[in-house]
Amino acid sequence: MRKPPVRIPYTDALAPPTIVPRNANTFPGALAALQNFFSAPPRPGLSPGAVVLSGAGLSVASGLADYRGVKGTYRVNKTYRPIYYHEFLGNHEARKRYWARSFLGWTTLRKAAPNPGHYAIRDLADLGLVRSVITQNVDSFHSKAHPSLPTLELHGYLRSTVCVTCSSEYPRDTFQNELARLNPPWADFLAEVLASGALDTEDPAERETKGIRTNPDGDVDLPGAPYMSFRYPACPKCLAHPPSAPDGSTHVVQVDHDGAWKPTSTGGVLKPAVVMFGENIAGHVKTAAEEAIDAAGKLLVLGTSLATYSAWRLAKRALERRIPIAIVNMGGVRGEDQLYSTVDWTQAGEQRVRVEFSTDTLLPALVDQLRQSSSRSASVSTSAAEMEAERNNRAMFKNMSS
Ligand SMILES: [Zn+2]
Repeated sequence: MRKPPVRIPYTDALAPPTIVPRNANTFPGALAALQNFFSAPPRPGLSPGAVVLSGAGLSVASGLADYRGVKGTYRVNKTYRPIYYHEFLGNHEARKRYWARSFLGWTTLRKAAPNPGHYAIRDLADLGLVRSVITQNVDSFHSKAHPSLPTLELHGYLRSTVCVTCSSEYPRDTFQNELARLNPPWADFLAEVLASGALDTEDPAERETKGIRTNPDGDVDLPGAPYMSFRYPACPKCLAHPPSAPDGSTHVVQVDHDGAWKPTSTGGVLKPAVVMFGENIAGHVKTAAEEAIDAAGKLLVLGTSLATYSAWRLAKRALERRIPIAIVNMGGVRGEDQLYSTVDWTQAGEQRVRVEFSTDTLLPALVDQLRQSSSRSASVSTSAAEMEAERNNRAMFKNMSS
């Protein structure tokens, strides 16, 4: 069997980080190291701007669960196993289950917002220090916090659904309304649990006290409406005009009397616009990510253990290009020993930084510090300009009076 490109992340325990430079183990030390990282001149011919590579850790302060805990273990629901692309494509029952869970979870994600870490990236871009972002996150927080900074969503985004047959995209919000319409008992249940606050927590025991009972697989058990009866809509475009199949025949797209996709169909299945496990990252996305690394003078890794291969190979590419690399992450990072093996212990952050602080506190403090030092240097140059003007005035006065 061919190895799928997006694999279940590397789950071995990761060694704790070696902090670089050594004095970056304190908050002021970490700030100073990152300030040196940003103020160091880039290699000749390279952009002074950094590319950010971000992961789930950056969104933790937005209330979204980190994919991996600080010890490299799955922090949330240990029995949870993500759905594979081939299961989603080939199995109507698996899709019902996926969409039932997603129907309940969407409101939580919809309510979540970018945190100070995301806004600090916007500010770093405004200071001319960050030129682009590559994110593994599917929560769309980067584009909300900094819509004008080029951002590549390596693993797609949950804000849309995409048709697996015709590739049309639709807003996830519209899809949510359709799910509610097709599954009235679930819609009532969702309204009830939202009111109870049970979805504000990821802890199954706490959820249970608020009225949500989950089975050992982490699925919600809804008495009288098992997820096997969950219904989801078909792609409206494929339904209206069934497209041709690769074999030249025409796809069959059928729905029940309410408009729910019927398993007699051969196409028109909607999927979240994210890259699922076992699914390929689109070639143009992969290429764009490599180009973003190649165009940058520095790499700033934020809130990711680089556990997915697609993220790790981008960091490795930066290493091979010998550009400065800074990593801000709670807990170990895959391949850290390689990224830091050639570190010069006399440097103060110009080439390598490895710090362990939370991005939502460290990055805003860094922005403050960089702004202060840039306004200090701006006022130094202002007074230099004033002195120069003063000298010119005096010279002019001398000329006039002579
Ligand atoms: Zn379609």
